[in-house]
Amino acid sequence: MTAVQSSAEDRGGDLAPKARRRAVLGRPSLLAVYVPTVVAVHLALTVAGVAATPARFNDLLTFAALLACGAVCIEASRRLGMPAGVARDLLSAWWLPVALLLPPVYALLIPIPLQALLQFRVRRTLVYRRVLVVAAHGIAGACASLVFHLVVPEPLASVDWVVDAYPGIPVAVGCAALFTVANAALVAVAAHAANPESRWRDVLWNRESLLLDVVELCVGMLVAITSALSLGLLLLALPPVVLLQRSLMHQQLQAAARTDAKTGLLNAAAWQREADTELSRSQRTRDPLALLLIDLDYFKRVNDTHGHLVGDQVLVAVASTLCGQLRDYDVVGRFGGEEFVVLLPGADTVEACRVAERLRGRVRRLAVPAEEGTVAVTVSIGVSLFRTHGEDLIELLAAADLALYRAKESGRDRVCLPAIEGPKPSEG
Ligand code: GH3
Ligand code: MG
Ligand code: MG
Repeated sequence: MTAVQSSAEDRGGDLAPKARRRAVLGRPSLLAVYVPTVVAVHLALTVAGVAATPARFNDLLTFAALLACGAVCIEASRRLGMPAGVARDLLSAWWLPVALLLPPVYALLIPIPLQALLQFRVRRTLVYRRVLVVAAHGIAGACASLVFHLVVPEPLASVDWVVDAYPGIPVAVGCAALFTVANAALVAVAAHAANPESRWRDVLWNRESLLLDVVELCVGMLVAITSALSLGLLLLALPPVVLLQRSLMHQQLQAAARTDAKTGLLNAAAWQREADTELSRSQRTRDPLALLLIDLDYFKRVNDTHGHLVGDQVLVAVASTLCGQLRDYDVVGRFGGEEFVVLLPGADTVEACRVAERLRGRVRRLAVPAEEGTVAVTVSIGVSLFRTHGEDLIELLAAADLALYRAKESGRDRVCLPAIEGPKPSEG
């Protein structure tokens, strides 16, 4: 499963049923058309494939063996748990061989039982998202399968393509890449339609997920070659794949524990740890350091007027605006519901107020799509300076909180310092 699929699955995971219905029906019309279309294409191809493909014992046996291996992997991951944010399950190791070795109809079929198992045994997610993932896997797998079978018509009947290696292996690698790209693209369109604010680059790939795609592709190729040589060898392939999957998921669980699932920013505890490290560095180097406490104005009204789903989209949009406007080494976190916190290493009073003003201006320009037009929000920002307003994180946060209170009291949509002196607070 790719990161794109996980983001598609995670969105809306904590919404009330009524809001979820609105989430599907009220989504931009592209999603309401796109998902049924992809699912219908998958269904039509599957029905046509089942009718046109003769059931051969060898094919069925190979399919059953690879399906069983996938099921074992899913059961092994069940004990680790798979919270939102954990995306890579290495299941391609099993459905890539299905696509390469068996007629295309099997590639259309295999995601159905495996995704059903994930849904009922590991993590429940919105049904339409799970169904979309099934369809995307199926269609992508069938494309890869069709192309490979044009070059190697009977990959199970003769292993010449493995022994001679050329052109079978390079074509298999190309088809595996085609599978990954087609699958990611099919799901990314839905992820982008669900959140039009998101950047294509973010819903498609990042460096980390690209690396994991390569790992999945390599493991899938090795399993395909192994099972083409002898199905019994799958018994040797299964333990290392399960182990690899467990270590991969452990890594992801650690990363998920640091981040806020809704916005992808650091959660409060992780932010505090990173901020403490920056503060110690600043103490050592005597460099300036500033803290911004950012709170959305009248956010309750957004929820009351447009519903929690739109409220969530606003939080996501604000979070990505903050990230887009800050440097890589600034520490950004979501502190509470609609409150964000930023640590600016090296920033003095003037620089901190300048950055805060820029953030305020950018958030002001946001237009988050809602059922009735767009939603605009503003933020109030409290600024505090290391050494001027506090000697440790607690004091800095308290000072920024005081400044935020001043910003709210004096009309919102502005930047304030804790004391009257210093640069004048901006007017909204
Ligand atoms: P103020 O300008 O004084 O900050 O007013 P406010 O309405 O923003 O502040 P208040 O503290 O009264 O309300 C905050 C709201 O934020 C209430 C809560 O429902 C909402 N909220 C908190 N977390 C989330 C979340 O994760 N998603 C959504 N949609 N709303 C949230
Ligand atoms: Mg607020
Ligand atoms: Mg608040």
